[in-house]
Amino acid sequence: MGEETVSKNFIEQIIEKDLAEGKCETVCTRFPPEPNGYLHIGHAKSILLNYGLAQKYHGKFNMRFDDTNPTKERVEFVESIKEDIKWLGADWEDRLFFASDYFEQMYEAAIKLIKKGKAYVCDLTAEQIREYRGTLTEPGKESPYRNRSVEENLELFQNMKDGKYADGEKVLRAKIDMTSPNINMRDPILYRVAHMTHHNTGDKWCIYPMYDFAHPIEDAIEGVTHSICTLEFEDHRPLYDWVVRELEYPHPPKQIEFAKLYLTNVVTGKRYIKKLVEEGIVDGWDDPRLVSIAALRRRGFTPESIKMFVDLCGVSKAQSSVDYAMLEYCIREDLKLKRPRMMAVLDPVKLIIDNYPEGQIEYLDVDNNLENEALGKRKVPFGRELYIDREDFMENPPKKYFRLFPGNEVRLMNAYFVKCESFVKDGDGNVVEIHCTYDPETKCGTGFTGRKVKGTIHWVAAQTAKKVTVRLYENIIDEEKGVYNPDGSLNLNPNSLTVKECYVEPELACAKPYDSFQFVRQGYFCADSHDSKEGAPVFNRIVALKSSFKLPKQQ
Ligand code: ATP
Ligand code: MG
Repeated sequence: MGEETVSKNFIEQIIEKDLAEGKCETVCTRFPPEPNGYLHIGHAKSILLNYGLAQKYHGKFNMRFDDTNPTKERVEFVESIKEDIKWLGADWEDRLFFASDYFEQMYEAAIKLIKKGKAYVCDLTAEQIREYRGTLTEPGKESPYRNRSVEENLELFQNMKDGKYADGEKVLRAKIDMTSPNINMRDPILYRVAHMTHHNTGDKWCIYPMYDFAHPIEDAIEGVTHSICTLEFEDHRPLYDWVVRELEYPHPPKQIEFAKLYLTNVVTGKRYIKKLVEEGIVDGWDDPRLVSIAALRRRGFTPESIKMFVDLCGVSKAQSSVDYAMLEYCIREDLKLKRPRMMAVLDPVKLIIDNYPEGQIEYLDVDNNLENEALGKRKVPFGRELYIDREDFMENPPKKYFRLFPGNEVRLMNAYFVKCESFVKDGDGNVVEIHCTYDPETKCGTGFTGRKVKGTIHWVAAQTAKKVTVRLYENIIDEEKGVYNPDGSLNLNPNSLTVKECYVEPELACAKPYDSFQFVRQGYFCADSHDSKEGAPVFNRIVALKSSFKLPKQQ
């Protein structure tokens, strides 16, 4: 084995350079969601990245609600966002902040800029401001209000704050450069008048700061050293730097952009998920087919699996899209050794062992997880009548089918060999009973070596089995056709949800919400947190067992 080299991502390289050069003494990162929806897998990447960096450099991780925009934010989202971040394991300790708590400081900052001659009140309408701004190829034009005196600006800004103007009548703008090649630097708006009630500050303010002005101030106030955001803010960085420079913060935070995480053929956009919820196509923001963090949790994903996934995705500046199969790989890897392997029959047909004593039930000793002894053993009831999966029997099998067919012998997992003697069909030609004989010598665990069989099938004893509801999922989008139809609507997969009544080992009836298991040969399943009742769990399939996904080779 060669020497292991752990390569650092580009953000770690920047941080280490800053620490080495004394540009900062400790590291402070933050996660700044807008409370306008539920968090999704992409946000998980940002949360775990920011939290992971703080941990790695023994720094701090802040949680900050970016609630400067009173139109869209809702208190209900604040709670769900906190719950999701805690569940992921990112700990903000006592540093839970709201950007709206800094309105006073932002106002003071605006006054400072006015006094420095770096900001002015402008009377142009929104439309005129747009016209004056110019385009990518043409420079902008200066506003006729650009050269107001400091005194006049101070008075007008005070009037804005005091509610003397209607929405849109006046704005405060930065005085930078109307000819800048970067449109964001052409005297951007810093404050606007909006007579709206804010969920945190009520009616105290009728002027609200714009994101590009507010965000660097929030970072600077909190002592954030590295303000990590996604690529669409790259062109805003000169403005971010301008704000921290002009406000003369002693420890200016640094903005670093990385590429968003996209999953191929998976919808994450709030707008579309809202539509799916409203049209009743999914049963809420946490429908297990979605990739909101709440949905992944409900489906049975673990924080560890999401962390593994995010780590595998890496951090980069190049926009790319990751296959959902990689997320599935991660949850399989995580649950493989952690969860017991139980028997469940999803598509049941009766198997009767004609030479097994009627009415007898014996309890077989079964390992909970052959790969992890620590999970111990359990007793599994066995009897004369069993359920097996319909696809484990064929009347006329093709070559290489090693499961049950007339005359063939298979192993019943953890139990005995059985040989198919006959079967019964109903009037429609469906097989309803499979008759077998068993060989008592072949009991599992007794070291029987007399002969071998090629197939092993799972089963549950009919007398003691519990009937439960199981839900199987496919991608909500029809992957073959892509996410959108030509008319812009979503391309829905009609088979994204299959509900089945199944038979399971009796012990599974005690599953509590979020308990998860491997059902042998079927996949990993998790007891649903909404629809499970005491003694009657509903199981969601997290993921099937097999996949064609291969972990890309790490260089
Ligand atoms: P969306 O519109 O998809 O919900 P958003 O960017 O509007 O996303 P915010 O609440 O503003 O959501 O984002 C909070 C943080 O999460 C920001 O720092 C943002 O850059 C980051 N983020 C959002 N989407 C992704 C993604 N797909 N991958 C990585 N980080 C993301
Ligand atoms: Mg947003």
